[in-house]
Amino acid sequence: MMLRNYIGGEWVESSAPRTQPVINPATGEAIADVPMCSAVEVDSAVQSAAAAYAQWRRVPPVRRARYLFDLRFLLEKHFDELAATLTREHGKTLAESRGSVRRGIECVEVAIGAPSLLMGYALEDVAAGIDCQAIRQPMGVFACIAPFNFPAMVPMWFFPFAVVCGNTFIVKPSEQVPMSQRLVFDLIHEAGFPAGVLNLVNGGKDVVEALLEHPGIEGISFVGSSPVAQLVYRTAASHGKRVQALGGAKNFLIVMPDADRESALDAVIASAYGCAGERCLAGSTVIAVGDCHDRVRDGLLRRAREIRVGNGMDDGVTMGPVISAAHKDRVVGFIEQGIAEGAELILDGRSAPVPAEGHFLGPCLFDKVRPEMVIGREEIFGPVLCIMEADTLERALQIVNEHPLANAGSIFTTSGKSAHDYKYEVKASMAAVNIGVPAPMSFFGFGGAKGSFFGDLKAHGRESFDFFTDRKVVMSRWN
Ligand code: NAD
Repeated sequence: MMLRNYIGGEWVESSAPRTQPVINPATGEAIADVPMCSAVEVDSAVQSAAAAYAQWRRVPPVRRARYLFDLRFLLEKHFDELAATLTREHGKTLAESRGSVRRGIECVEVAIGAPSLLMGYALEDVAAGIDCQAIRQPMGVFACIAPFNFPAMVPMWFFPFAVVCGNTFIVKPSEQVPMSQRLVFDLIHEAGFPAGVLNLVNGGKDVVEALLEHPGIEGISFVGSSPVAQLVYRTAASHGKRVQALGGAKNFLIVMPDADRESALDAVIASAYGCAGERCLAGSTVIAVGDCHDRVRDGLLRRAREIRVGNGMDDGVTMGPVISAAHKDRVVGFIEQGIAEGAELILDGRSAPVPAEGHFLGPCLFDKVRPEMVIGREEIFGPVLCIMEADTLERALQIVNEHPLANAGSIFTTSGKSAHDYKYEVKASMAAVNIGVPAPMSFFGFGGAKGSFFGDLKAHGRESFDFFTDRKVVMSRWN
């Protein structure tokens, strides 16, 4: 099956000469072909979105929200189909897919609050006889560029908010996982959004470059690795666009000696190995503070051994494959580097019992990792958890805060003082106390700090309404 683009309210065959197979990572089978589109198709999508904008911005917010109500209804109706599509293209377990579809739907639900959330403010008599009001206005065409790890959810971090504000929109899914957006756009079509309000262009780097440079696009929302996020930020900003670029992560989980050990270690395991470690919020390093190292190591090892690796569609499987053969090689490369640098691989997922086909890797656990090692520094983005040690919370925080990435982090403790000090000092935009994954909630903002985020206004929540609108100030005098 050759995938198509959705432009101007209809599915359009691509003229791209190059295509790429979409592989089910649990079986190695090709499930579709994706066209690697070019600037020509981006231009066509921008023209369609720009033409639709003129009318769409005039639709009252309460009516724009009604289209999202209808989309929400259809997303619920096709919930299981969407989750299964996601598992087939990405590999995560059905339970994980369901969780991420649910989070995506929550974004639609929050965006439906636009009639209230778009309100501005006003003051009479800012000078004699002059009234002043601040209003939010849509700006035009926006676009998002998505990563491979949350194919259904990530575009929903952006497009519901963008279009409910009165903008029109283009989605560029990851070329590795374009199937669930195809289904979402079928539902967008069924919901009856006017032609051109939402568009989809498939492809990779060429499409991204064309979006970043196109003069008809007002703003870009990017989610992916930090080097590409930085490139996207620079290029789009140099073309005068608003940008929010969410990048990669290296998330540290600090376990204090006074932590409730059983629940803390359960949470660490779920954080590190959930979605096979392919999450920007995955805990990739646990820092055992004080004298708790041996108990932390033994508890993690026991739990990691219980993880059942297999096809995410099968009952009882708790961890699916990684996304591709190339990504598996990359993760294995990190494992080899860790061994070479002297870290102790106490659970070797390379020799775990896994299905013969597909890109599987069992859970890996490294002990005696130091911050300067490659596996202590780099984002591995696979089922590899590293254990470090620190004498004190201060030293643990130093390790965390010296790292150039700052997406998420957690502390596990029963001490209010330790929790307070952590919350106050930690450089991580999503910080958690006794929780393994400080997951993005659609009614709060979401994004990282330092090298994990480029821009200023973050994704969803109220900040979305700032990102997707211009706050115009209007002064009036009527003599
Ligand atoms: P990626 O950076 O390789 O790709 C992201 C998108 O950029 C894709 O759509 C891809 O087509 C495009 N792209 C890739 N290389 C490009 C280039 N050189 N020029 C222009 N466009 C390019 O990321 P990925 O491997 O798909 O996703 C995993 C990464 O995303 C991890 O680093 C993860 O931490 C990060 N991520 C971050 C968040 C967050 O909220 N901060 C969420 C999910 C994933």
